[in-house]
Amino acid sequence: MLIILLRIIINKNMKTIPHNKDYRITLQRKIVLEELRKVCSHPTAKQLHLMTKKRNSNISLATIYRSLDFLEKQKLIIKLQSKDKEARYDGNPEKHCHLCCDECNCVQDVFDVEDVKIKSKQLNKSGFVPNFNFLELHGLCKSCLS
Ligand SMILES: [Zn+2]
Ligand SMILES: [Zn+2]
Repeated sequence: MLIILLRIIINKNMKTIPHNKDYRITLQRKIVLEELRKVCSHPTAKQLHLMTKKRNSNISLATIYRSLDFLEKQKLIIKLQSKDKEARYDGNPEKHCHLCCDECNCVQDVFDVEDVKIKSKQLNKSGFVPNFNFLELHGLCKSCLS
């Protein structure tokens, strides 16, 4: 009788603990995705952490990184990884290009990818096949130039 009772308790725990944990993880991922989709600034994980703090959620930075990794693998967001710079994240997984300012680090979106493709015909001549989904053009933005 006692063994049966114990089994029931164990089974109960086994069912409830992972469920609650999963739920918490899913909720955290949802918050991260929501915050990321609110802005078009392509924030870093640390900036995103501050954004979630403002929302009164106590998600740790490590969890933010884990959630971003997960969301990227699910193709719900885009990770922009530039050399020597902190990775930035984009809540819009639609096909688009990025104009990155090397001075103020702002990132602007360009959705007319076809236009960029035509202008870079030279690239195709070399036999190189660029991935336009992740094209980043580096330079100076309007306000940094003026
Ligand atoms: Zn700039
Ligand atoms: Zn973007």
